Amino acid sequence: MADLSKLHPETQLVQGGINRSAYGETSEALFLTQGFVYPSAEAAEARFKGEEPGFIYSRYANPTVDMFEKRMCLLEGAEDARAMASGMAAVSAALLCQLQAGDHIVAARQLFGSCRWVVETLAPKYGIETTLIDGTNTDEWEASCKANTKVFFFESPTNPTLALIDIAAVSKIAKARGITTVIDNVFATPVLQKPIELGIDVVCYSATKHIDGQGRCLGGIVLSSKEWIDENLHDYFRHTGPSMSPFNAWTLLKGLETLSLRVEKQTANAGQVADWLSNHDSVAQVIYPGRDDHPQAPLAKAQMKGGSTMICFDLKGGKDAAFAMENALEIIRVSNNLGDAKSLITHPATTTHKNLSEDARLEQGIGPGTVRLSIGLEHADDLVADLDQALNGVGR
Ligand SMILES: *Cc1c(COP(=O)(O)O)cnc(C)c1O
Repeated sequence: MADLSKLHPETQLVQGGINRSAYGETSEALFLTQGFVYPSAEAAEARFKGEEPGFIYSRYANPTVDMFEKRMCLLEGAEDARAMASGMAAVSAALLCQLQAGDHIVAARQLFGSCRWVVETLAPKYGIETTLIDGTNTDEWEASCKANTKVFFFESPTNPTLALIDIAAVSKIAKARGITTVIDNVFATPVLQKPIELGIDVVCYSATKHIDGQGRCLGGIVLSSKEWIDENLHDYFRHTGPSMSPFNAWTLLKGLETLSLRVEKQTANAGQVADWLSNHDSVAQVIYPGRDDHPQAPLAKAQMKGGSTMICFDLKGGKDAAFAMENALEIIRVSNNLGDAKSLITHPATTTHKNLSEDARLEQGIGPGTVRLSIGLEHADDLVADLDQALNGVGR
């Protein structure tokens, strides 16, 4: 068997982690079972003692879920992983499993809404202190460290304004102080950004996004070193039960087969749409990490292999213009989801980020005319034509 860890991601995404049953099936088998039977009482004892390999209960591990975890480990360059029921199960487990009362988290304030709730509202209930900073300012990470700082947490590019955080620089600050770094790598995808190579300790995904990529099921995963998982996540995961369903793992394995094809095509489409939007009279500003006018273009080139499938832009006409455009779109649909084969558009101020105060929104660059666009697999010319007809008559 070839050592897949040395092969290209395209090969890993199709072949990685396969564990064929005695039937020699071509496609990954779906083990839709809660539990497992043992050949004898002695075998059950040995398995529970960890003296013999084998599955015990699907809350702990399942052969189909295991294939998904192994394939993701290959792609990410991680030693071990735990798949979970959703992206939020993954993020909350990655944070809470390693923290206790008296610890301190430093997090970028530019976070996905539920991630921000976990660090800002949930963690303090358990005596864990949180400091939210402007993650794009590397000095603020350093300045916010205290003796009890245990974890740095952030996403890059950020949602929805696609600001970048210098992953290597933040990891370096953390390493020097024994702080664990946790990144939510959803917007970049494992195809375009490799956090572990940049020094990150723990990587989280919502597999609901690009990994499925076809709008079917929820999923999440936490990847790290074997040591970190054994010491922090292993017991937490087994006993709190955020496990992924085998059916979802099977669906996500099929999603992974086409992940690099989809992300590359969607990124190429996004580049074309972003360029077109940047020349439109109704548009005040386009933020796209693949364009030279992105405020952090050199950092984008250093840490990402492409501009991503996401675009953020501001309409001069504010909320009225954003709503008029959204309502006039015929191909691009209004949805808070992202990373899908279908192009989707969101007005963050009234949906995903409505729970933030207006000041907190403006601090992150989310104005009344800000829209977030997730670019799909449609032909880019058709997406441009749809935006063109929808922006017709929208205030300039
Ligand atoms: C969607 C998303 C999540 C949450 O994932 P779910 O699968 O919906 O639980 C977390 N972080 C980011 C950046 C996301 O886009």
